[in-house]
Amino acid sequence: MAATQKLACFRLPPLPTIKEIIKLYNLRAEKQLSQNFLLDMRLTDKIVRQAACLKDARVCEVGPGPGGLTRSILKAGAADLLVVEKDTRFIPGLQLLSETAPGRMRIAHGDILTYRLERGFPAHIAKTWEDVPPNLHIMGNLPFSVSTPLIIKWLEQMSNRTGCFMFGRTRLTLTFQKEVAERLTASTGSRQRSRLSVMAQYLCTVKNCFTIPGCAFVPKPNVDVGVVHFTPLAQPQIQQPFKLVERIVKNAFQFRRKHCRRGLEMLFPESQRQELTEELLRSADVDPTLRPTEISISEFRALADAYSKLCEENQGLIDYDFREELKLKHQAKRQLGNNLYKLLK
Ligand code: SAM
Repeated sequence: MAATQKLACFRLPPLPTIKEIIKLYNLRAEKQLSQNFLLDMRLTDKIVRQAACLKDARVCEVGPGPGGLTRSILKAGAADLLVVEKDTRFIPGLQLLSETAPGRMRIAHGDILTYRLERGFPAHIAKTWEDVPPNLHIMGNLPFSVSTPLIIKWLEQMSNRTGCFMFGRTRLTLTFQKEVAERLTASTGSRQRSRLSVMAQYLCTVKNCFTIPGCAFVPKPNVDVGVVHFTPLAQPQIQQPFKLVERIVKNAFQFRRKHCRRGLEMLFPESQRQELTEELLRSADVDPTLRPTEISISEFRALADAYSKLCEENQGLIDYDFREELKLKHQAKRQLGNNLYKLLK
């Protein structure tokens, strides 16, 4: 297989195995940090192959840990690998690995949720958004607690073309809990269709590449793991600000089993709820009896466009929060009750 031959071209000098590295540096997996290591190089090579050809590429690996996936990335020929690791215990083992690939690996001790990736690579590698993707890849086998907030943050940056998307349509290959991987790629009408499916698919081509059984990790997590590849679309399917789309999608999925009208009406203040919900659905030409899972991306686009127009026509609507209105209503009720009580006393 061509890809396998390519991986073999960049054989690293003899190194202790990942198992030996873990023993050598006493790298017990921290349950609190949801650390589950991949020690099988056939699997880490397979993850790397999903990212396209990495020969001469620039790569950012998130959470390298003891360095299994890191070795596969270097073996695949990456010219510049930046690893971002939060746990200091892994740094000496990673330094040992970087010495075997001189000038090709940089180590950053930091938290990927706040790390400024746009500062990690030179500006000259940037491509325009409409061009082919830059030769820059983000990869990682992250703890589940981090991968979901991280992909939401990256989707927003993708929409704003900030962070690592200042370089163009940077591709991502990441692991998720299997159920989350299924949600990310779920099609309209499927059981797993969720907010995450719509938010990811309106901005990217999302591919659920393969599933790794939990037993392949050390220690074994209680779930299986999905490897997901994201390529940002040159033309996002919805051309509205990320926060506005997020608002529509969040409201639509609020009552998952009910007709979509039920969730969407919460976008509007009680005094205008019926009238504006009808206007929204009518101008978007969306059937109010659809379940949220049955709304296609093009229908979400029509809803986002119609909602944006309503926000332009109705001052303050974009900031409306039905929870705030409910809270104020409860407070007023309580106050009225207290006043009545005082009067009657
Ligand atoms: N990549 C290694 C592998 O596949 O064996 C380790 C995977 S382990 C599931 C997740 C790694 O991400 C750990 O090394 C952990 O310390 C690191 N990590 C967790 N949260 C992080 C964060 N916010 N920023 C950077 N690294 C993080």
